[in-house]
Amino acid sequence: MAKFEYAPAPESRAVVDLAPSYGLFINGEFTESQGGSAFKTVNPATEEVLSEVTDASAADVDRAVAAARRAYNGAWGRMSGADRGKYLFRIARILQERAREFAVLETLDNGKPIKESRDVDVPLAAAHFFYHAGWADKLEYAGLGTNPRAHGVVGQVIPWNFPLLMLAWKIAPALATGNTVVLKPAETTPLTALLFADVVQQADLPPGVVNIVTGAGATGQAIVDHPDIDKLAFTGSTGVGKMIARSIAGTRKKATLELGGKAANIIFEDAAIDQAVEGIVNGIFFNQGHVCCAGSRLLVQENIAEDVERRLKRRLQTLRVGDPLDKNTDVGAINSKAQLSRITELTDAGEAEGAARWDNGCELPAKGFWFRPTVFTGVSQTHRIAQEEIFGPVLSVLTFRTPQEAVAKANNTPYGLSAGVWTEKGSRILWMADQLRAGVVWANTFNKFDPTSPFGGYKESGYGREGGRHGLSAYVTTESNG
Ligand code: NDP
Repeated sequence: MAKFEYAPAPESRAVVDLAPSYGLFINGEFTESQGGSAFKTVNPATEEVLSEVTDASAADVDRAVAAARRAYNGAWGRMSGADRGKYLFRIARILQERAREFAVLETLDNGKPIKESRDVDVPLAAAHFFYHAGWADKLEYAGLGTNPRAHGVVGQVIPWNFPLLMLAWKIAPALATGNTVVLKPAETTPLTALLFADVVQQADLPPGVVNIVTGAGATGQAIVDHPDIDKLAFTGSTGVGKMIARSIAGTRKKATLELGGKAANIIFEDAAIDQAVEGIVNGIFFNQGHVCCAGSRLLVQENIAEDVERRLKRRLQTLRVGDPLDKNTDVGAINSKAQLSRITELTDAGEAEGAARWDNGCELPAKGFWFRPTVFTGVSQTHRIAQEEIFGPVLSVLTFRTPQEAVAKANNTPYGLSAGVWTEKGSRILWMADQLRAGVVWANTFNKFDPTSPFGGYKESGYGREGGRHGLSAYVTTESNG
């Protein structure tokens, strides 16, 4: 199909000032590792090495936890909520002021399109700090229980799909409630967390309140296992989430786990089809499908399936895949070689199990990690592509005849993070929302996020909520809940 030709409109990367190497941010300053090593972080769109970062050792984690403990026992622990709120407001404003720098750096390190990092990740990260800043002096009135108090030192381990945004989801509520933090960004996307350390300095936060330790899985494990951590907050795979749950069982550590998903996006025959097609595209091709709540299973009512499929494929042929820094780009690079192999393996399995594979046939850049927007039709519920999280730009299409069948198929997964319902009937939306075992149900929209709205899962999608008052409650202990 003919496409409008667009002239490239690349965002300048001059706004980003990258150091050749980074240390660890502990006790308010960048320090050298003790016994750790170093690894390179690359731009997944070009495979260019961006910088070298520290692979923190257990001794480094220990120093970071000690700094966080000192800050908690010191100035931060004694500070009033109103004063903590001022720091959070300051961080939020600095994020806004440096938004372009953060957006370009996020796109360079992650591979996501600049229009997403610019319009979604960075503004939402700032919004999380603004929202939680407002709560800092009102915790008594948040309905959390009597006399809400911080846990103490919180260990936080985050993934690579929304690096800065996941940092904000974790750090903002922790600080608003008076905790101190040791955070590990993902191995492939450490750079915006390190730039955030610069923001922490700029905001003049007392030393040790926020500590950033970079590294791989072993560094995350050292945080999880550290005896002086009071609470853990993790977002990532269900596999690692289960390991964390096992390793803290029997300890006094509290935890929230935000894990994987295999969401159903359900289209009824009375839905506004063109809007639904946009919602399907946003549901699974936003952020290359590297989204835990992605609408990776399309459930479409049988009598409109052919029409929806035709319109969807036509729309997908207009998606622009390529240079993430180009403001026209809709779909960027896959975050890592390892993730690309996982997507390739699962899509090959889909074909081998008998589903029909289609992709939009777009040209892909010669270097970097890329995957064409792909749709599988004729998918049955037992196929791996209908059961396992692919975490890439791949949609599995299934059909249903009745609302009951849609619910049964949507719930037929070990996960339960999100779902979408497209219909013009309000009563059906409410009925479906009641039946779907998913933490978030979107109606006639998809992938909408707001700091005031709790987010989290059922079953193997984890436990605990982030955002809203529910999210705050995970960071406090009260006289009623201990
Ligand atoms: P992981 O769960 O391994 O990564 C999440 C975070 O946990 C990273 O910071 C990671 O570090 C860290 N980590 C890894 N091992 C441990 C450990 N033993 N103890 C503590 N922390 C640890 O996800 P992957 O990056 O391996 O992705 C694999 C799959 O997980 C994806 O294909 C996708 O299906 C799913 N996923 C889901 C996410 C979600 O938001 N629900 C987010 C990311 C992945 P490091 O980066 O160094 O490995």
